Amino acid sequence: MTTKNVVVIGGGPAGHHAATNAARFGANVTLVERDVLGGTAHLRDCVPSKSMIATGGAMSFARRLDGMGLARVETGIEAAHLRDRIASIESRLEESVRGLLESQGVSIVRGTGRLAGPNEVVVTTEDGEHRCPADAIVLATGSRPRIPDWAPIDGERVLVTRDAYPPEDIPEHLIVVGSGVTGVEFVHMFSSLGSKVTLIVSRQQVLPHKDPEAAAVLEQTFLDRGVELYKGARATAISRRGDEVEVVCSDGRVARGSHALLAIGSLPNVEGLGLDAAGLTANDWGFIDVDHNLRTSVPSVYVAGDLSGKLPLSSVAAMQGQKIAEHIMGLHDGRPHRHIDYDKAASAIFTEPEIADVGLAEAEAFATGRKIRVTKVPFSANAQALINDDPRGFVKIVSDPNTGHVLGGSIVGRHAAELISVVALAVSASLRVQDIQEALFVYPSLSEALIEAAE
Ligand SMILES: Cc1cc2nc3c(=O)[nH]c(=O)nc-3n(C[C@H](O)[C@H](O)[C@H](O)COP(=O)(O)OP(=O)(O)OC[C@H]3O[C@@H](n4cnc5c(N)ncnc54)[C@H](O)[C@@H]3O)c2cc1C
Repeated sequence: MTTKNVVVIGGGPAGHHAATNAARFGANVTLVERDVLGGTAHLRDCVPSKSMIATGGAMSFARRLDGMGLARVETGIEAAHLRDRIASIESRLEESVRGLLESQGVSIVRGTGRLAGPNEVVVTTEDGEHRCPADAIVLATGSRPRIPDWAPIDGERVLVTRDAYPPEDIPEHLIVVGSGVTGVEFVHMFSSLGSKVTLIVSRQQVLPHKDPEAAAVLEQTFLDRGVELYKGARATAISRRGDEVEVVCSDGRVARGSHALLAIGSLPNVEGLGLDAAGLTANDWGFIDVDHNLRTSVPSVYVAGDLSGKLPLSSVAAMQGQKIAEHIMGLHDGRPHRHIDYDKAASAIFTEPEIADVGLAEAEAFATGRKIRVTKVPFSANAQALINDDPRGFVKIVSDPNTGHVLGGSIVGRHAAELISVVALAVSASLRVQDIQEALFVYPSLSEALIEAAE
């Protein structure tokens, strides 16, 4: 049997999981990356945003120490330390990805890849062009922030997310445009770090696609922190005059601050990928259509991660990479296997309190008329939440009233991003509420609220 040649373009979670797994299953793999091993969106957005949020969380915890019976301590930002911390996390993660790839014998090529045909990739490096023949090609080039023409991004005071880890100085007054997951995380991040923040919310609720009860808890926390909400307002223009930034909204309101940050979604990286050469085209949204095996209309070409237009999460990108490797290497042939069920992917918003959910949402069931049972337990009755001096939020479990199967859930509160894993496992393994209820969890723990919600 001849060894398969696999070429992967992009070294983010999607690409490096495809590469390491294909190599582990016996392929001869080349991975092409033009920027950072580990992924630009992953290592220059996802991870630093969570690192800044952790720093902000430590600051807001310090401000609440009196609730723990301790004297308050004054904290201040050490911008240089913060920058070093973020750089060190990025380089440690990049090294770990490099180590994983090298341990599986993947050849890493630093350069820009493009398709030259259905079975060939051309890589432009500092030394010139190199041709890589391939039995299978994985496109995993990720996405970048969407920048409309009315937003003159300068990386100094008019920013996209990647410019803000951390900015030279913590903004005195930040205007965040966009109230989806990324926007609210930035509001939380900078309000924790001491900035005054104004949030432009195009609808009447932040997080328009999330559980309204969860969004309401977050909105209240923002208001308690003095965050200004411009609801029902769309930004239409941003301009900078010296040290002042102005955001003009569709309803005539104008927000003025020291910095503006745009968080209005992302665009797939398809430019220059040579789709034509392989007989591929991007769809109307710029993504490349794939089947349930993440294979394009050209059988030798697969797409993973943000470029697939499925669910833009690092966890999903990694699983897509793994599934593609299994498919290329024939591991699915004649064997039972599961396709990715995107409806069962857990996700979290790293605000304070955290918001996490998985599976069927209450509002979604209501909209489709599906009969469900919803149980909700507040953390205010949970011993560990009181011990932590943080009883905000709740656990909600959605189940099938006839069979008891867990269909979904949402959690608002401290460590919600960790706690949701129990519900995610229940949804993915088709467990019933009774299975959660009969599990013996630790006392005292926040997880106990899950048992109560399952009763
Ligand atoms: C602000 C922010 C916060 C986020 N937070 C979270 C979170 O908390 N949890 C979560 O799960 N997800 C989060 N995400 C989403 C997550 O970062 C992405 O879904 C994930 O990184 C997608 O992985 P990827 O491999 O598709 O893309 P990337 O991580 O961007 O990797 C793609 C790689 O391809 C390379 N590339 C592109 N074109 C070429 C080419 N032609 N040749 C060679 N290399 C190329 C790029 O340099 C890049 O390194 C966040 C995103 C943002 C913007």
